[in-house]
Amino acid sequence: MRILVCVKQVPDTSEVKIDPVKHTLIREGVPSILNPDDANALEAALQIKDKNPDTIVDVISMGPPQAKLMLRECLAMGADNAFLLSDRAFGGADTISTSRTIAYGIKKLGNVDIVFAGRQAIDGDTAQVGPQIAFRLELPVVTYVQNIREVKENSIIVERQLEDGFEVVEVQKPCLLTAVKELNEPRFMSIGRIVGAFDTEITVYNHEDIDLDQELCGLKASPTKVYRSFTPEPKGKGEMLTGTINDMAHTVVEKLKEEHLV
Ligand SMILES: Cc1cc2nc3c(=O)[nH]c(=O)nc-3n(C[C@H](O)[C@H](O)[C@H](O)COP(=O)(O)OP(=O)(O)OC[C@H]3O[C@@H](n4cnc5c(N)ncnc54)[C@H](O)[C@@H]3O)c2cc1C
Repeated sequence: MRILVCVKQVPDTSEVKIDPVKHTLIREGVPSILNPDDANALEAALQIKDKNPDTIVDVISMGPPQAKLMLRECLAMGADNAFLLSDRAFGGADTISTSRTIAYGIKKLGNVDIVFAGRQAIDGDTAQVGPQIAFRLELPVVTYVQNIREVKENSIIVERQLEDGFEVVEVQKPCLLTAVKELNEPRFMSIGRIVGAFDTEITVYNHEDIDLDQELCGLKASPTKVYRSFTPEPKGKGEMLTGTINDMAHTVVEKLKEEHLV
């Protein structure tokens, strides 16, 4: 069985800061990490490999050359091979362009039984890329996977998270699954593998390598235009109440009365 995990390098912050003038993400001074949901996706793939040792787990990313470091982390966690889709032509991609490039990259790699993605990336938060890759590869997709119950010869049984519970879905392979954080606890990099990860060659593909027309990559092929991004102004300073619940409830009522709100 071959499993491919889509992994994205993201700034290490849940609070993305926007440059007020250029309206772009401020990346300076913010270290980059493996997107958290993608770590869960990789862990799920590695757990399948733990039970089925002949499984190959590969990781693929689209990003600038520095994404290699994050890919080496994935190798140190247990991935077998890492692929980086990197080309100036890929820059400025929206989700349509991103998913097209990744889908072409996956086609280049050949047969895959399960493609994993995270539910969403913390710097974009669109949660669109996984399902879009599935659409382009004509694969069935299950989003919000919170548990993998059984991997069978031709299908896989998973729990799909809902707001107030979950549903059990059996999906035929090949398929694409998107992982949520409840799926598992990602393992640490193994010390033994860290050294090997730095010796492992990371395969880099540009648009020609994956047979993708330059006009269909990056900004040029991105219909989404973000006209303005901003961080909301902080609201006034809050006041923390102390004391028993009754004391605090009494204080809140008094304050609401003072403001003539009750
Ligand atoms: C402020 C801001 C607003 C934006 N608004 C929009 C918008 O409205 N519409 C739009 O189309 N784009 C928008 N973009 C661009 C968008 O963030 C990028 O296109 C981004 O690459 C899309 O992925 P995402 O982070 O939303 O991924 P998500 O769809 O949230 O990611 C889901 C999963 O897909 C996989 N994945 C995503 N990107 C990669 C990658 N590069 N390599 C490997 N795997 C990957 C990962 O497994 C990830 O967990 C915006 C960007 C910014 C900075």
